[in-house]
Amino acid sequence: MKVLKFGGTSVGSPERMQGVREIITRDSDKKIVVLSAVSGTTNTLVEVASEYAKGNSDKSIQIINDLYAKYEKFVDDLFKGEDFKKKGMEVVDKYFEQINKLIKQPFYEQTEKILVVQGELISTNLFTLHLQEEGINANIIPAAEFMVLNEQSEPDLLEIESRLEGFLEENKSYDILITQGFICKNFNGGIDNLKRGGSDYSATLIGAAIGAEEAQIWTDIDGMHNNDPRIVENTFPIAQLSFDEAGELAYFGAKILHPNCIVPAQQRNVPVRIKNTMDPDAKGTLITSEKNPDTVKAIAVKDGITAIKVKSSRMILAYGFLRRIFEVFEKYKTPIDMITTSEIAVSVTIDDPKNLTEIVEEISPYGSVEVDKNQSIICVVGDFVAQRKGVGKDIFKALEDIPIRMISYGGSKNNISMLIDTNYKKEALIALNKNLFGL
Ligand code: ADP
Ligand code: ASP
Ligand code: MG
Repeated sequence: MKVLKFGGTSVGSPERMQGVREIITRDSDKKIVVLSAVSGTTNTLVEVASEYAKGNSDKSIQIINDLYAKYEKFVDDLFKGEDFKKKGMEVVDKYFEQINKLIKQPFYEQTEKILVVQGELISTNLFTLHLQEEGINANIIPAAEFMVLNEQSEPDLLEIESRLEGFLEENKSYDILITQGFICKNFNGGIDNLKRGGSDYSATLIGAAIGAEEAQIWTDIDGMHNNDPRIVENTFPIAQLSFDEAGELAYFGAKILHPNCIVPAQQRNVPVRIKNTMDPDAKGTLITSEKNPDTVKAIAVKDGITAIKVKSSRMILAYGFLRRIFEVFEKYKTPIDMITTSEIAVSVTIDDPKNLTEIVEEISPYGSVEVDKNQSIICVVGDFVAQRKGVGKDIFKALEDIPIRMISYGGSKNNISMLIDTNYKKEALIALNKNLFGL
C-alpha cells in the first residue's frame, strides 16, 4: 500500500483536484490519500483567529464571508450534477457553521486550534464526494481519530498504528481512503495540529504506521532542489537523497518538507518520494536509506534564528557548566539548533524566541549574555561533506565577503552549518550555488 499526500496548491482549484483524481487512479493499487487544505485556506483561518483574538470580530466575520464565497464557486465548478453540487454545499455549510460558531464564543487557545484545521476537513470531504461522483470506490477516514500525540506532544506511532489498523480493517472494501493532513489530537483529547506544513508529517507517520511501500509527497515542484528556488534562480531537482540528508534539509529550512517528516519514515525504513502534481511524469526525488558518499547534495536556509552567547572567563569548560545552561532551555521547552564553544564562551541558536526574555534572565548569573536576532542558518548537506577535498575551501571561499557568526561541523557527517545575519542570506546562497554547483 502507498500513501500519497497532496499539498495546498495540488488541491488548490477544482481543476487541480480533478488532476489529483487522475494521478491516484492511474493504477488500481490500494492507497491512502492525505490532503492539505485548499491553498490559502489555512492562512485565512489563522488570520480569522488572530483578528478575533484581537477583538476585531467584524473583520473576522468579513474574512470568513469572503472565504465562503470562494468555496461556493469551488463547489459549483468541481461537481457536475445538481445532486453532488448540493451535497458539496452541505459539506461547506457544515464546516462554516462550525467556524462561525467558534468566533461567537470567548477566545481560547483551543478556539484557534479548532479553527485552523477546518480547511483540511473541507478539502477531504469535497474530494471524497468528487471521487464518489466519478464512480470511484473511495471513503474518508477521520485523522483526528487516529493521529494522536503523546504526553510530550510528539506523535504516538504505536497508538497511531493500532488505531489505523482498525480503520483499514473497517474500510477494506474500498480501494482509496482519503484522510486529512495536519490534524491530530493531543494527549488531553483536544483537537490539535502538526504545525504549519504538517500534512507532510501526517503522510510519513501514516506511511510508517502501516509499513507502506512508499510515502509520496505530491507538491508544486519537481522534487527537492539543490538550493532554495524561491531565492536562487539556477537550481535543479536532486534524484536521490539519503534519509539523513533529507532530514537535515527538512529541519534546516527546505520548506518543501515539514521539519520532522523524515523521522518516522527513517525509523520504519519507508521510502519517501517527492513528486510534482503539475508534471506527474517528472522524476522527482527519492529518499531512502541508501547513501551516496562524497557528494554535496544541497543547501538550505532557516530564517528567524536567534543566537545567544554566554561569556564567562573561567567556567565555560568546567564540568557541569554547560548542563546548567542547557537546563534553562529545557525548562522552557526550547530546542537548540546549533552550538559552538570556546574556552571562554558558548553560543547557541534557537528558532523559537517565545521565552527568550526568561531564558536570558536565567542564564545571566553564569556570565554575560549577548543576543543577536534576525539570523539565518545556512546548511550545506551531503554525505561526508567536509571529507571531500576542497569542499570546506569552496564553502568558505564563497562566503569570503560575508560575516559568519557561527560554524558547526562534526555533529553529523551530513551537514556543515553557518550562522549569518539574514541580510546576507541571498548573497550567500547565490555564492554557494556558484562555488559548489558551478551554477
Ligand atoms: P505544499 O503546499 O505542496 O506542501 P510547499 O509550499 O509547502 O508545498 O512546498 C513546496 C515549495 O517549497 C516549493 O514551491 C518551493 O518554493 C519551496 N522550496 C523551498 N526549498 C526548496 C527546495 N530545496 N526544493 C524544492 N522546493 C523548495
Ligand atoms: N494546511 C496546513 C498548512 O498550511 C498543513 C499543510 O499544508 O501541510 O500549514
Ligand atoms: Mg508544505
